Amino acid sequence: MSDTLTSDCLIIGGGVIGLSLAYELACAGLSVHVVDQGAPGREASWAGAGILPPQSELGAPAALKELGILSSRLHAEWSVRLEDETGVDNGYRRCGAWNLATNQGEAAELERAAAAWRDDDLDVQLVDPDELAQLEPVLADQRRRLPIQAAALLADESQVRNPRHLRALLSACQRRGVTITANSAITDVEHAAGRVAAVQSGTTRISAGHYCVTAGAWSGGVLERLGASLPIRPMRGQIVLLSTIATLFSRVLNVGPRYLVPRADGRVLVGSTVEDAGFNKQTTADGVGGLLRFALELVPALADARLERTWAGLRPQTDDGLPYLGRLPNLANASVATGHFRSGLHLSTGTAVVMGQLIRGETPRVDLAPFSPTRQAN
Ligand SMILES: Cc1cc2nc3c(=O)[nH]c(=O)nc-3n(C[C@H](O)[C@H](O)[C@H](O)COP(=O)(O)OP(=O)(O)OC[C@H]3O[C@@H](n4cnc5c(N)ncnc54)[C@H](O)[C@@H]3O)c2cc1C
Repeated sequence: MSDTLTSDCLIIGGGVIGLSLAYELACAGLSVHVVDQGAPGREASWAGAGILPPQSELGAPAALKELGILSSRLHAEWSVRLEDETGVDNGYRRCGAWNLATNQGEAAELERAAAAWRDDDLDVQLVDPDELAQLEPVLADQRRRLPIQAAALLADESQVRNPRHLRALLSACQRRGVTITANSAITDVEHAAGRVAAVQSGTTRISAGHYCVTAGAWSGGVLERLGASLPIRPMRGQIVLLSTIATLFSRVLNVGPRYLVPRADGRVLVGSTVEDAGFNKQTTADGVGGLLRFALELVPALADARLERTWAGLRPQTDDGLPYLGRLPNLANASVATGHFRSGLHLSTGTAVVMGQLIRGETPRVDLAPFSPTRQAN
């Protein structure tokens, strides 16, 4: 006879999405159990760069934009709350970011983006290369090989240090009574009358009022066990960590999909690749080499930096680029929150709040219809 553990909500996957949801539900008074097949908070959420833009990517559908704005606001609040509750400073900083255009086409695009950001009341300043050199001296370096045609400063871009944020979330969850079980893969699922009755993990039977899948890039396999099928792919991202003695710059430098993120202690993250490599988390000579070339072409002074570490993580990607947030079809007590691709850290707070509302039977403050798991079929 196996033990049965019971809670109001079982969360399958303890990355930033699962832990944020657990924290939100525990704050609302629910009993919560998080299971992770490995160590919680060690996959994509640990690997990410921690950039928190003030809203979602340009051209994002209205609902995603709304989720992005909500998430950005909540990060400022949660960072204070988490530090009060746990004593862990997650490194949240409103550092600002330069968005850099390296050719005429990108410069025209940046101008359109700046106009759209202004329409959304964001603090944005569009400057030419001469002004940029005055405002960001590290980019005035004559040895710089990456041309810069135009630059836009987004004052409200922020950053968080992922490992610290995850440590704060884990600790806050534990203080609020969340049960967290590591190294616990789901091996079986019991169904009864259109509901999930329990899941089995090793010799332990785990039952809950509600089940939410937050297993990131691995969500497809977990959903299959529940009887649902959603296309979620792993998309590898490699990162290089450099370390400098003096702080060379304090704002994030964005050039298309690549970036340099300066930490307050002189470290600089160089990211990131986007590769379809299956579930392979290796770093490669080509990936790391390309990131280092990019870093040195933009900030030649980094040539003397110490190469501290490289790593890779697997982002969960969906076919249309939108996350799946909502109830699973044909199961009255199961939902999914995954597929945040390049924005999971950023969207984690808003996701936790709206999924928390959904699970508690309230109306989510952001319309979740565009994120519905059934949207493929429609
Ligand atoms: C290089 C890189 C840079 C990034 N930079 C940023 C950034 O700057 N800003 C940003 O917002 N986002 C960024 N991202 C994206 C972000 O990291 C992801 O979108 C986010 O971490 C996804 O969180 P998650 O909780 O869904 O997944 P994960 O963190 O991968 O967590 C999933 C968890 O589920 C567990 N799991 C898997 N299968 C099972 C199972 N069968 N049973 C139980 N548990 C299971 C795993 O062990 C894991 O702990 C970046 C990602 C990468 C790789």
